[in-house]
Amino acid sequence: TPVIGVLALQGDVREHLIALAAADAVARPVRRPEELAEVDGLVIPGGESTTISKLAALFGMLEPLRERVRAGMPVYGTCAGLIMLADKILDPRSGQETIGGIEMIVRRNAFGRQNESFEATVDVLGVGPVEGVFIRAPWVESVGAETEVLAEHGGHIVAVRQGNALATSFHPELTGDHRMHALFVDMVRAAG
Ligand code: GLN
Repeated sequence: TPVIGVLALQGDVREHLIALAAADAVARPVRRPEELAEVDGLVIPGGESTTISKLAALFGMLEPLRERVRAGMPVYGTCAGLIMLADKILDPRSGQETIGGIEMIVRRNAFGRQNESFEATVDVLGVGPVEGVFIRAPWVESVGAETEVLAEHGGHIVAVRQGNALATSFHPELTGDHRMHALFVDMVRAAG
């Protein structure tokens, strides 16, 4: 059984732990480099990407996270977690750093004021239609040659994969549908 961590610096950690357990993984929170070293894969939750970035730096986690992602550890970022996996943020706050891992440029809070939070059915390649919960969600402005687009909504990219890195603008951990987590658990099994 794969052991999958959830980066537990800020954000909706608990919901991901529950979804991963429902998808037949052993799930545990990860805050420190020693804990990161013990997991086979990692989820980066939704929350606030600037806060997660600053806390990751404070906890000495940025470099260890970058190293493991570079070395091919499977990683899944939702919403703020997607932003953390971007090579480049279009509109970063000052001091906002990312882990990287997916060649893409993201736009934070992209869906705008009128539409800050909404639900929509999103057709995810290889998974099928899923209910997407979007909360001040980013979209992916553009992707590199190696990045696979898994879903779009309203003409904007909202799910991507590059190698062992998966990211969605929306929050599957909030719906009780565990197929996105099951996809990630399969990626971790395949890498192990
Ligand atoms: N808007 C948040 C950010 O920029 C992301 C929101 C979320 O994770 N639900 O980090």
